[in-house]
Amino acid sequence: MDTKACQTKLLNKMVLTIEQQIQFLPPRSLMNVALTCKSLLSRVTTTMVVRSALIHGDNAKKTFEELYKLMKNHSIHPPSPLRLLRLANGRKCEFCCKKNVLSLYQDMNIGAFSCWNCLTKAPDPLTMAFKSSWSRCWRNPIYRCILNHPRLASRNKSKGKFLWIRDRLDANGDKIGPLVLWKNM
Ligand SMILES: [Zn+2]
Repeated sequence: MDTKACQTKLLNKMVLTIEQQIQFLPPRSLMNVALTCKSLLSRVTTTMVVRSALIHGDNAKKTFEELYKLMKNHSIHPPSPLRLLRLANGRKCEFCCKKNVLSLYQDMNIGAFSCWNCLTKAPDPLTMAFKSSWSRCWRNPIYRCILNHPRLASRNKSKGKFLWIRDRLDANGDKIGPLVLWKNM
């Protein structure tokens, strides 16, 4: 075996060792490692992030339990491993970066960390209410069918559902949030 082949074999062994080691890190450390360089980021997989979140940390575990429900219903854009890491480490609203949001609330069901203000009131709110009291809703069974469909990711509040207004991108340029938008109604 020549020197180059020997070096490649040794490098492959080292890479495997790095992957084996980082898969047991807690979500915060795993994110720090992933953001070190593109090479390490490409080695972080969805399985690795989910395992780390379920083994360590209460909030990360709760977040992934909520994400599992949304993913099972195919109601949000599939998150990348980096996005999963961000959600596992999420503490604040990811849109205003001011208010604390401890986990993806069970009744929020939008697959993003958002405070109530950004969700409904900010100058460019994330969601808009579609109320079941509106005549077009109770007169037309199609609207009720869509509102009760498991693929609709929304926030239930005061006899209505807050629906995602438009597609949003995260810091990495990937689409986030629900697939069914307000305009689809
Ligand atoms: Zn906010």
